[in-house]
Amino acid sequence: MIEKESFLQWFSTEIPETLFPQIAAQVIFRCENCGECCRGEGYALVDEADLQEIAKAQGISPSQARARFTNPDPGKNAGCRILKSIGPDRSCCLLDVQAKRCMIYRHRPRICRTFPMLNADTECEEIICFYSDCLGTAKFVKMLQEKRCDPQVQKDIEDLTRHAERLEALRILLFVWLRRMMGKIEEAEQICRITGISPPLESAFQRDCLAYFLMTIKTDGLDEYQYEG
Ligand code: SF4
Ligand code: SF4
Repeated sequence: MIEKESFLQWFSTEIPETLFPQIAAQVIFRCENCGECCRGEGYALVDEADLQEIAKAQGISPSQARARFTNPDPGKNAGCRILKSIGPDRSCCLLDVQAKRCMIYRHRPRICRTFPMLNADTECEEIICFYSDCLGTAKFVKMLQEKRCDPQVQKDIEDLTRHAERLEALRILLFVWLRRMMGKIEEAEQICRITGISPPLESAFQRDCLAYFLMTIKTDGLDEYQYEG
C-alpha cells in the first residue's frame, strides 16, 4: 500500500501533464512507411543504449556498430553520436531504401520510436507537432477531423470526464505503454503490479486514447494542416 501511495505521489508530481496526450497520440498513430523521417542529415541521435540495440540487431559489438553506422554528433549532445546518412537523399544508413523500411525496426533507436507524436524537444512549446511531410501524420489528421464529431467518441469523452478514477488509470496505462515502447518491460510490469492496474484489451485502449487525445488537445488548427510530402 505504501509502495502504491509513493508511486502515485511520484507520478502526480514528476510526470508532466503534456506527456499524456503525446503518448495517446503515439498509441493511435499509424506509420505509413513513407520513409520520409529516415532521410536527411543528422536527424537520428543515438546514445550508448541505442548502440547496444543496433549492435544486437546486427550481431556485432557496440564498438563495431559505432564505427560502422555512426558519426560524431555535430550538436555535441553529451554521450551521443548520429547515424550516418548515405546516398543522394542522405538516407539513414539503416534504411532499406527500396522497401522504405528500417532494417533494424525492432531495435531502432529511441528517437525513432518516439517520432512523430512524442515531442523529444522539451523546450518546444507545441505539445504535438503535426509534421507536414509525414504521410502517417496526414492520415492521422484526417482521422481526427472525421472522429472529433463522432457521437461514440463524444460519449467516450464524457465517460472519461465523469470518472476521475478511470482517467487516472488511463494516464498510468499510457505511462506503462511508453515504458514498454522504450524497452523498459520490467519497469512497466512493476508499475502494473504496484498499482494493481492491468492493461485493457487493445481495442478498448485505442478507443480511450482517441477520446483522451480529443478531450485534451484543441483541434481547431487541424483544418489548416497541409500534407507536403
Ligand atoms: S534507425 Fe531506422 S527508423 Fe531510425 S532513422 Fe534509421 S532507418 Fe529510420
Ligand atoms: S515520415 Fe511518418 S509515415 Fe513516414 S516513415 Fe516516418 S513516421 Fe512513418
